Amino acid sequence: MQGVPLLKDLVLVGGGHAHVHVLKSFGMKPMPGVRLTLIGRDVETPYSGMIPGFVAGRYTFDECHIDLARLCAWTGARLIRAEATGLDRDNRQVLLKDRPPISYDLLSIDVGSAPNLDTIPGAAQWATPVKPIAELGRRWLDFLERIKSWSGPLKVVVIGGGAGGVELALAIDHRLHEVAKGAQLHLALVTKGEILAGQAQSARDQVRTILQRRRITLLEQSASEAIKQGAVQLEGGKWLAADAVFVVTEASAAKWFATTGLALDERGFFAVDDALSTNDPHIFAVGDCATVVNHRRPKAGVFAVRQGPPLAKNLRRALLGQPPQPFVPQRRYLSILGTGDGRAVATRNGWAVEGAWVWGWKDHIDRKWMRMYREPPKKPMQMNSATPPDPALADAEARRLLADIGMRCGGCGAKVGANVLARVLARLGLFGFEAPDDAALIDVPPGKVLVQSVDFFRTFVDDPYRFGEIAAVHALGDVWAMGARPHSALALAVVPAAAERLMEEDLFQLLSGARSVLNEAGCALIGGHSGEGPEMALGFSVNGVVDRARALRKGGLQPGDKLIVTKKLGTGVIFAAAMRGAARGTWIEGALESMRTPSTKAAEALVAGSAHACTDVTGFGLAGHLAEMIRASGAVSVDLDLDALPALDGAVELFAKGLASSLQPENLRARHLIDGMEGKTGHPKLPLIFDPQTAGGLLAAVPADAIGRIDGIVIGEVKARREGDAFIRLG
Ligand SMILES: Cc1cc2nc3c(=O)[nH]c(=O)nc-3n(C[C@H](O)[C@H](O)[C@H](O)COP(=O)(O)OP(=O)(O)OC[C@H]3O[C@@H](n4cnc5c(N)ncnc54)[C@H](O)[C@@H]3O)c2cc1C
Repeated sequence: MQGVPLLKDLVLVGGGHAHVHVLKSFGMKPMPGVRLTLIGRDVETPYSGMIPGFVAGRYTFDECHIDLARLCAWTGARLIRAEATGLDRDNRQVLLKDRPPISYDLLSIDVGSAPNLDTIPGAAQWATPVKPIAELGRRWLDFLERIKSWSGPLKVVVIGGGAGGVELALAIDHRLHEVAKGAQLHLALVTKGEILAGQAQSARDQVRTILQRRRITLLEQSASEAIKQGAVQLEGGKWLAADAVFVVTEASAAKWFATTGLALDERGFFAVDDALSTNDPHIFAVGDCATVVNHRRPKAGVFAVRQGPPLAKNLRRALLGQPPQPFVPQRRYLSILGTGDGRAVATRNGWAVEGAWVWGWKDHIDRKWMRMYREPPKKPMQMNSATPPDPALADAEARRLLADIGMRCGGCGAKVGANVLARVLARLGLFGFEAPDDAALIDVPPGKVLVQSVDFFRTFVDDPYRFGEIAAVHALGDVWAMGARPHSALALAVVPAAAERLMEEDLFQLLSGARSVLNEAGCALIGGHSGEGPEMALGFSVNGVVDRARALRKGGLQPGDKLIVTKKLGTGVIFAAAMRGAARGTWIEGALESMRTPSTKAAEALVAGSAHACTDVTGFGLAGHLAEMIRASGAVSVDLDLDALPALDGAVELFAKGLASSLQPENLRARHLIDGMEGKTGHPKLPLIFDPQTAGGLLAAVPADAIGRIDGIVIGEVKARREGDAFIRLG
């Protein structure tokens, strides 16, 4: 039985201010048949209006960032964590750094802007740019750590006198006075024209007075010409000493925009019409990265925010083949500059006011906006999954698919069509078009034996490329655990019924991810089978080769051995929480990163280090797999050090909230083999030993003298077991 098939790919590039609104809009009112994908470089996207408040210490990191993983999960959108580097418009694809392109039917770009460091020699090496803001946040926190115990003069230069530069300088001033109490702070704000160009004279006057009152040196008409270690050179040749330099100069366009062939404005930003569409009707662009040619406005977040609703509407219209509607941005707008000290300056229509109440007002507006995307409401009505797509979405091929969706064949009829498969294999550079044999012929090198294993599961991540990587690592885990060298693999891939183009894309992404891991592991993909099914799934039958005598087995633990694990634990609880919207995006990212990491090097080190026994940690959890090893080894037990267990970020916090994988109760059955549980019931890491792992690390017993040569974490020691002793003793 199939659900509503997917017919169109709507892809958003960048989690900017307008796109978070589009995500929310499609979450509230989905379009059946449309697959929504967000490609984002950062999993937590900043709200720029609150960043100076973060620098000033008024907001935590969480308060001024939107977790895109959570928002996408709430929306039902796929999150592809990647950086766009260009477009292949002929094939309607977004080019990505370090992974294959993603296809689109309709595309929207909201990737913001960044100061152009190329205009000031030395800036890239010696200064901190204000964007990417995630990077600014990291470097700012490092800087604060460094200057905590600073004594004597501390010289800081902020380059750029626009609203962002002024706010940042005032925020830095406030925070440094709080943190670096032993330092004599000299803060300079330097800018090439006058400050707040384009804003009201009264605002400039107010801000100049505030800077003077706060003893911040203001150097106007002073373009920065170069930066070297410890100094900034101003026009005219004067050098300004600087222990730290922050660059908040004019917004500039990413270089890849110029390679897209789309119409650009004179500064290299996408030129868009009143409906926010570029000169390619399949591509919209908004926020700082675009210029509405008929209604030019400053590059400010307020305009990106306002473009969210008309963009969402026009994307829906474009998907249905309707002409997009024009949108005229407001000309006048309220600008509020925080001064870092709990006060702010508001300006509009030529007037300016300053005070603590203005900050209270700004804080209220910003927090209200953030709440809409950080805490989206409960959905009023779940879409009926059988709601048919609007017929206007479908082209002729898709209409055929819709007509026969209820009667799709099973058996061999459920295979992915030959054309789709051939195109995918050609894109992957596999097999070509010539007919392959019915089965793969495998030569085993002389003197070796073949180890074989099989694994298969349905997807639990919405990015098919990542899923492909993880499924391959998971399947190869058995081969690595045997100390064998991966040799070849057969894939079993299931993709949901969709328009041919989307099915091709899914299969391509899945197999590309898998192949990147298999290639790295030296394992050839020699064949497989692909079919349609209700949800995406992938598995492999894997082969490895090994000298029989050198194969690592589960049995073989010897008293005195150290027990090591090569990856952190906690994938089960993190993805259980992700399904409930309770995991932070960065925790999910950390778990994905661990799962997609092959164990090639760990396995080689174990073989070279003469490990006595090994297995991979997967569904039964650490305790279950360890029990298998002990059972296979005879009269041994293991003293397990709970404190030493390596946990993925977030795992312990989630257990503390009572979350666990649905398989955890089953794994808890191993507790009768464990001694000392009663005394450890409150230990925060106890649940980790029952947590099922996907693509987990290797668990091995190694001679104590091999420890320094093996990259793993020691979590216990093997002991001789006497009659009546438990398998595992908790320490
Ligand atoms: C210190 C400072 C304070 C400011 N304060 C204000 C203010 O109070 N009010 C105001 O109106 N404006 C303010 N601005 C201006 C504001 O930052 C921008 O106008 C606003 O962020 C633009 O929003 P956006 O949606 O275009 O892009 P952004 O908010 O920059 O979002 C871009 C998103 O795209 C992602 N991304 C970037 N490149 C790629 C890529 N290649 N592939 C995939 N994803 C990518 C990023 O990770 C990010 O999530 C301030 C600027 C600064 C520097």
